[in-house]
Amino acid sequence: MRRIAVLNQKGGVGKTTTTVNLAAALAALGKRTLVLDLDPQAHATLHLGLLPGRSGPSLYEVLTQGMPIEQVRRQVAPNLFICGSHIDLAAAEVELIGTVGREVILRDLLDAALDAEAESFDYVLMDCPPSLSILTLNALCAAREVIIPLQAHFLALHGLSKLLETIQLVTKRVNRDLRVTGVVLCLFDAGTRLGGEVVEDLARYFDGKRNPAAPWAEARVFRTRIRRNIRLAECPSFGQSIFQYAPSSRGAEDYASLAAELEGRAPAAIWLGDEPAPVASEDASASRVA
Ligand code: ADP
Ligand code: MG
Repeated sequence: MRRIAVLNQKGGVGKTTTTVNLAAALAALGKRTLVLDLDPQAHATLHLGLLPGRSGPSLYEVLTQGMPIEQVRRQVAPNLFICGSHIDLAAAEVELIGTVGREVILRDLLDAALDAEAESFDYVLMDCPPSLSILTLNALCAAREVIIPLQAHFLALHGLSKLLETIQLVTKRVNRDLRVTGVVLCLFDAGTRLGGEVVEDLARYFDGKRNPAAPWAEARVFRTRIRRNIRLAECPSFGQSIFQYAPSSRGAEDYASLAAELEGRAPAAIWLGDEPAPVASEDASASRVA
């Protein structure tokens, strides 16, 4: 079982689009997948066709009242489940002040849910808000992996240091198992010089910070680039994933490819021993940032 936080403190970089469509692609591969929408804006919830507040309890009840995840999650497609968000989640930060261990509430309830479920999940994907808040911290404590969506523009790397610093602090203090699996380039304009430059900058950036003990030691830039595709921008308003809305679009092609890449190449460092070791494909090293 893999638990992945989709994280970048910047807004508009493709976190929600990636969480939802990657989850849908994994579900289509037969993987039981759970999405946790930790953003009070509830975009992932809407994207998967639920109305925040009208579809029963949300992660707000989970975090502030300890409601079990099994009571909150809804099935939205074969193999695809979501714990929705609600605008009330924005208040959780304040409500949880004074709660001891407030950053591990989600981790504990997720552990309990995974024990209680008759069938476990293959993937848990967490859509984080665009901030380094208590909600994000809960995701980072419940996760084993981080995927960072990045938009390939000239300020793309700006803010990455801060993000990696935060992840490192989390690994030192509360979740030593956390690893950065990789960076996925979203809203990618194929064929532009800038796209290529950002990929090179990124490689150099990680190389300069390479350190076997760092949580990003195994990080790579995913070979799959998510190209800019209008269908991806349209499908949320229909409450559908790209595979329901436009299954033959480039967007669907890219997210299916990302899911296959993620499936095939988990970093060894997060191997939990409950599934067979990954078969590294021949070009695995080529796609590494190192
Ligand atoms: P975040 O969750 O990081 O704030 P979103 O996933 O909501 O980012 O994406 C920001 C906006 O860009 C949304 O309107 C979304 O529909 C759109 N978008 C995301 N990825 C793509 C893409 N590959 N092509 C076109 N539009 C995209
Ligand atoms: Mg979002």
